[in-house]
Amino acid sequence: MIACTALPGYSLNAMRWHREARRQPRELFAFCPSCGQHGWFTFRGVQHWSEAVMAQAGIPQSTSLWTCEHCLSTLSEPALKR
Ligand SMILES: [Zn+2]
Repeated sequence: MIACTALPGYSLNAMRWHREARRQPRELFAFCPSCGQHGWFTFRGVQHWSEAVMAQAGIPQSTSLWTCEHCLSTLSEPALKR
């Protein structure tokens, strides 16, 4: 379980500092298009696409996958930044 759900409302600044200190973020605060809420996402891994899919969809060959803390949907990074 990630820190932000274990400690609701607890020192967001401290968590952000902790996140940056680790250099490789495992949590991301973003808008979830599935449930329509802002929330923390947990890093699930990197998905690699075939060249055919990449060319068709116009997406990078590899994208990070993130899981929403609210609805547990797994989304790719470009979807979260839109
Ligand atoms: Zn969601």
